[in-house]
Amino acid sequence: MTSVMKHHFTNPPIKIEVFFYLCYCKQNCSDVVEGEIIMKIIDLHCDALLKLWEDRNRSFTNASKVETNYERLRKGNVKVQLFAIFIEPHFSSDIKFQIALEQIDLFHTEIIEKHENIKKIERWEEVDKLEEGEIGAVLTLEGADAFGNDLTKLRTFYQLGVKSIGLTWNNGNLCADGVGETRGGGLTELGFEVVRLNNDYGVWTDVSHLSQAGFWDVINVSDFPVATHSNSMTICDHRRNLTDEQAQAIFKKNGFIGLVFNPPFINGKDQASYDDIVKHIDHFSALGGVEHIAFGSDFDGIINYVKNLEHAGKYQKFINHLLKYYSEEEVKGFAYENVFNKLSRL
Ligand SMILES: [Zn+2]
Repeated sequence: MTSVMKHHFTNPPIKIEVFFYLCYCKQNCSDVVEGEIIMKIIDLHCDALLKLWEDRNRSFTNASKVETNYERLRKGNVKVQLFAIFIEPHFSSDIKFQIALEQIDLFHTEIIEKHENIKKIERWEEVDKLEEGEIGAVLTLEGADAFGNDLTKLRTFYQLGVKSIGLTWNNGNLCADGVGETRGGGLTELGFEVVRLNNDYGVWTDVSHLSQAGFWDVINVSDFPVATHSNSMTICDHRRNLTDEQAQAIFKKNGFIGLVFNPPFINGKDQASYDDIVKHIDHFSALGGVEHIAFGSDFDGIINYVKNLEHAGKYQKFINHLLKYYSEEEVKGFAYENVFNKLSRL
């Protein structure tokens, strides 16, 4: 509430609207001054599990290296955080499932069991049941190489509560090619089978990182296509971003796009500002996506940052900036409601 404090109150201000305050100074000026509005956030992608797995001494509670640690999630008023299981491509195929299980174990032991207020979300309707002060934590999988061609392993992920599966990271695997695979293939028969299984289990198929051909294959068969962490290619010409046609195909399927806070995907540079993200919001809105825009920070998976958005604790500053350009209802949509409103169809 910095702007309120700078004003000349002598009594506590009276809150007359959600984010405006009436000044009650002795000069009786009756100014309406801007305060800060607090909004709930759903963040669709972070790599905290990888950070915890790489160094078991890191505390999820408050390690400064963990950008989505508990204290920062609370400060940023993140209500639901999706945690990706991610195994770096250099590991041999036969140990990938084991590494995934270790990350799932850390999710339970370090994130859920050590924090009374963090609740594991296994069914989407549980998001609606979170109480004041509680944070929902969701498991997701980035890269089908964790289960190879073993559908028993895939079903084990579903049974352990994985709610979103991205078929690839940047490279190719038995299901599909990623954006970094030069042959640019689409889905294999196994990839199609995985998407159909995702549909059956009400699990999202995440198209972030997927090749162009793979994207269109997913759009054709997926009931729940989403891009958890991608931006607009028209605004920033990067292979990880989505073309206008791709974005509109996601909107048409009632999916959503989580804007990613990685400067190389925002403006092609190592640094970016809030307003650089606004360009992506404006563009997706102009394409008819105002109700399909969300956030997928990629905190803990990035090494460059948007100024004043270096970790989850900065979310509310960013939200207040967006209120300069968009209505409160729209910003609430980007922050939480656009995703929340679509959960009921799962
Ligand atoms: Zn990623």
